Amino acid sequence: MVNLRAGRPRRAGIRFAMANLHALREPLTVLVLGGTGEGYDLAAALADQPGIRTISSLAGRTSAPRLPPGEVRIGGFGGAEGLAAYLVARAIGAVIDATHPFAATIGRNAAAACAAAGVPLLRLERPAWRPAAGDDWIEVEEWDAAVAFIASQARRVLLAVGRRELSPFAGIDAVWFLVRSVDMPDPMPPFRQLEILLARGPFTVAGERDLLRAKRIDTIVCKNSGGDATAAKLAAARELGIRVVMKRRPPRPDLPAVASVAAALAWLRSLTER
Ligand code: NAP
Repeated sequence: MVNLRAGRPRRAGIRFAMANLHALREPLTVLVLGGTGEGYDLAAALADQPGIRTISSLAGRTSAPRLPPGEVRIGGFGGAEGLAAYLVARAIGAVIDATHPFAATIGRNAAAACAAAGVPLLRLERPAWRPAAGDDWIEVEEWDAAVAFIASQARRVLLAVGRRELSPFAGIDAVWFLVRSVDMPDPMPPFRQLEILLARGPFTVAGERDLLRAKRIDTIVCKNSGGDATAAKLAAARELGIRVVMKRRPPRPDLPAVASVAAALAWLRSLTER
């Protein structure tokens, strides 16, 4: 439950946004919750839109984030209450949650904060990957199941799960891990057999094929992030007959959702034209 502090505008949300646009002749301020390629592309597209001011919000997890055009703020809001207070303080007229499919907490917080502040909220999310003919996927809900599978079935694993989700795998001593991460894990969990590869996508199928062969990988462990930047490993795994242990996406609030920047722009237009 979110309680707003005193001082909340009496006309919140879309009515407040329309007042901005049509009566006060001030721009509509859009908060983009980002940290993804979609968030970046959306902020870049909004930079060209007359009558819209964009604030992109990043969690501040990576050391050198790609900064989108427009205003950027970095760091948490302090839960749903903090986000609701921010929406009011900055007179936000619309929020687009373009965070990563596995960033479930900020998704819940955005839904609660926007409901409390009366601000329209849209989810921009890339479609999930789906197995194609020739794929050998083991889909799991939680890492426990992946750990159990690897411990009994794998020898050499490409672990591409993000540097903050390595711990569950560190106790599997009999398996050799290639950990691929954008930034160095800190602290590094105590793996017995480990090589670290610092790399940021996009990756190519040819590059992934070479890597999987050179490191004699028999199993890839990853999350169903979707999108093109990191999909090449799946195509290479299909070609080479390598298994993929794929973590399914966590549930998110039931919200209006789109899968493209163009559709998000259309949603914003529909708000301002209504
Ligand atoms: P999370 O578990 O959903 O969020 C944890 C907390 O981080 C939130 O409660 C919030 O702190 C803060 N936060 C998250 N996203 C934020 C944003 N865009 N702006 C401001 N604060 C934010 O998220 P996560 O999985 O740690 O991911 C953090 C960020 O990295 C996300 O923005 C996401 O788009 C990006 N990312 C995540 C993954 C992944 O696999 N999880 C992969 C690539 C990129 P407060 O409660 O203090 O507001």
